[in-house]
Amino acid sequence: MSLIVQKYGGSSVADAAGIKRVARRVVKTQRAGNEVVVVVSAMGDTTDELLDLASEVAGRPPARELDMLMTAGERISMALLAMAIHDQGGVAQSFTGSQAGMITDGIHGKARIIDVDPHRVRTALDKGNVAIVAGFQGMSRQTHEITTMGRGGSDTTAVALAAALDADVCEIYTDVDGVYTADPRVVSSARKIDRISSEEMLEMAASGAKILHLRCVEYARRFGLPIHVRSSFSDHEGTWVLPSPDDKIKISEGVALEQPIISGVAHDRSEGKVTVVGVPDIPGKAAEIFGIIAGAHSNIDMIVQNISTRGTGRTDISFTLPMVEGAEALDALRAAQDSVGFDSLIYDDEIGKLSLIGAGMRSNPGVSYRFFKALSDAGVNIDLISTSEIRISVVTRADLLDTAVRAVHQAFDLDGQDEVTVYGGTGR
Ligand code: ASP
Ligand code: MG
Repeated sequence: MSLIVQKYGGSSVADAAGIKRVARRVVKTQRAGNEVVVVVSAMGDTTDELLDLASEVAGRPPARELDMLMTAGERISMALLAMAIHDQGGVAQSFTGSQAGMITDGIHGKARIIDVDPHRVRTALDKGNVAIVAGFQGMSRQTHEITTMGRGGSDTTAVALAAALDADVCEIYTDVDGVYTADPRVVSSARKIDRISSEEMLEMAASGAKILHLRCVEYARRFGLPIHVRSSFSDHEGTWVLPSPDDKIKISEGVALEQPIISGVAHDRSEGKVTVVGVPDIPGKAAEIFGIIAGAHSNIDMIVQNISTRGTGRTDISFTLPMVEGAEALDALRAAQDSVGFDSLIYDDEIGKLSLIGAGMRSNPGVSYRFFKALSDAGVNIDLISTSEIRISVVTRADLLDTAVRAVHQAFDLDGQDEVTVYGGTGR
């Protein structure tokens, strides 16, 4: 008997018909002789709608109350799915994150898992139930509060449960047939990737590919767990995210040899750019600035410091961070303006980030040239650049981002034969 963890995203459970369809799939998986744990997201765009509501009643809603609000979305899905499974003659029990033993730290909105104790889930399985768990939520043992793990965090719930229960596989069901060489909503000719290393998938997720939550990929890699990303709307084989290069070889030696230089293009329009103008160019100032940002729990992405303009002894430091963290980071910096001694702050949220990812970059010179040439031919100006061993990222104007993504995708011959089917969801 295998233990399978299945995670269904919001578009898969968007309405009653969707929930019944998922219920059939779950019951079928169980009747085929498997133990099944299901992790669900909130229905459709519920999380966004709840956030919109929150901002209608309050300018800056308290983080604790936001978590109380948002966790309700997943509770609706889990209970409805359990009912639909019962209706189809199955047995299921639903659990909130805290009931399922998802223990996190106490940081609201982006809590990290520190322990998973799924004994109630295990008992439910032993009694022949399907266990359904509400995604992206947990509880802090310190604060005794309910937390959420960040947008898209249900993927991480699924992988963490799969690791704790020693599952055979974690299936992530979404509204397309797998991971594509670019977001199919922007590049309709994107190609499905059959197998990708978790190293590359990590870079894709960190670069804004929303198909998988970043921490879910980190977690799966650490625990050596394969992830199968596929659609709940079809029976097609999806994309396998494989934790170690050895797995690639194990599955098929040919596959490893045929690995393309480039895996895909990811983009992100959720970041803003902060520029700290006129920072004294002396040791310790960058540490002071990023100490303040860390204190505000902001996740910095790209950082650029210029040489100081001759004679002034001052320099500008720019960095990007999630837009939702912008206000808090700016407040924190403003409060420290006198002690750090910078001149002013500029905030720009009209930016977009584009990244090209591929392990083959390591051994293929000329990738950067081709990349920058594609952007220049498309008339896209570059604002910031950062690289890793297997990634090049640039920041551009937000309104040129789609054009830039298509240009780079084409320049690296990533286009496939057919148009991608997007089965559901609004991509919001
Ligand atoms: N419902 C949450 C979100 O929309 C969590 C998830 O779907 O993974 O971000
Ligand atoms: Mg998701």
